[in-house]
Amino acid sequence: MIIEGAHVVTVTGEEYPDGHVVVDGNRITAVGPGRPERGDHTVVDGRGCLLTPGFVNTHNHLFQWVTRGLAADNTLFEWLTALYPVWAGIDEHAVHTSASGALSQLALTGCTTASDHHYLFPRDGGDVLGAGIRAAQDVGLRFHATRGSMNLGQRDGGLPPDHVTEDLDAIMAASEAAIDRWHDPSPDAMLRVALAPCSPFSVTGDLMRVSAELARARGVLLHTHLAETIDEEDFCRERFGCSPLDYVEGLGWTGDDVWFAHGIHFDDDGVKKVGATRTGVAHCPSSNARLGAGIARTRDLRDAGARVGLGVDGAASNEAGSLLEEVRHAVLFARAVGGPTALSVRDGLELATMGGAAVLGRAGEIGSIEPGKLADLALWRIDGLGHADVHDPVAALVLGAPPPLDLLLVDGKPVVEQGRVVTVDTEAIARECTAVHRTLLEKAS
Ligand code: ZN
Repeated sequence: MIIEGAHVVTVTGEEYPDGHVVVDGNRITAVGPGRPERGDHTVVDGRGCLLTPGFVNTHNHLFQWVTRGLAADNTLFEWLTALYPVWAGIDEHAVHTSASGALSQLALTGCTTASDHHYLFPRDGGDVLGAGIRAAQDVGLRFHATRGSMNLGQRDGGLPPDHVTEDLDAIMAASEAAIDRWHDPSPDAMLRVALAPCSPFSVTGDLMRVSAELARARGVLLHTHLAETIDEEDFCRERFGCSPLDYVEGLGWTGDDVWFAHGIHFDDDGVKKVGATRTGVAHCPSSNARLGAGIARTRDLRDAGARVGLGVDGAASNEAGSLLEEVRHAVLFARAVGGPTALSVRDGLELATMGGAAVLGRAGEIGSIEPGKLADLALWRIDGLGHADVHDPVAALVLGAPPPLDLLLVDGKPVVEQGRVVTVDTEAIARECTAVHRTLLEKAS
């Protein structure tokens, strides 16, 4: 396939206002200005469009899509306490339906690689991790499933009710089984697995420590929520006598194989530590603002050397579930707190692409438009009313209204065409999401 005539943003510094990209199989084989030799390639007319790398979502909870709009005006701890009983009702069907909705919305907003943090495993829920993976395969996105966990219930001073927690041995057996069954370390993998104990207030230190040991023995990444709210900071100071970052550092949880969701409340030393250890941060501006949690120090973290990507977070705290909106919010919120030069529109695009690829350990495979990289691409139409006269096409995408997505390629295959997901029936999914939402509320009442 050749896409030609588009404004091509490679994200490696080069831009081609009338450029082309050649895709052979699942890889990009050429990029440059003007029109290439056509040979027997299919040609996509990209005139009036902006071509970017596909976006990488570094933090999400797909099962939350069907629990949107609850506790809409509450803090994180209040919101979690309201939602745990609803989430306790999930099963394979609920998760497959919910994930299909969330992943379709991600595809429509430019996402080609999605990660999922699944931490809730009801005893009679069936294979809920596998259900999310099946949904990713149905929609056609590159997928990083994380086997999450909670083992610190209210009985032991944690936040979640005891019946939604598991015991440590069961978690470790399931984690190992998930790696055996699904993790694909190959360079063009469509599916990888990471381990993800949920947060300092819902898991024990022992679970964090043994999860890190297993992940390192098996060569998979580590993910958790960290430094999201002041309530979490207070919990850690009271229980462990230190900050959340110092606590998890002592458990082996910093390094280039670790990424934290949120990372808002780091002090200057914390920012330095995260940067010096090349730890990753999934910045989730919409969710953080929705829960009034604060805003991560994106610019400082990047300057310190941290790997920073973007995440929509679970849709229960970000009803839009739009990865493009995260780019816009990352830029706007960074400037709202850090001034006009805190983050450029191209920095925002870089966070969503190369930044996310680096967070998921895939900077060599995805995240930019370069020969040899996987063909994960987004072609945005910017010649309509909303964008045609915006001087800078990248500003049109990042600061303007969400433009129509003409084409989304994942691994060289179309997932979105002319603003519609072509792999699954999104209208049927929406109907089923409504039914599952009702069922979960009834179960919880
Ligand atoms: Zn989260």
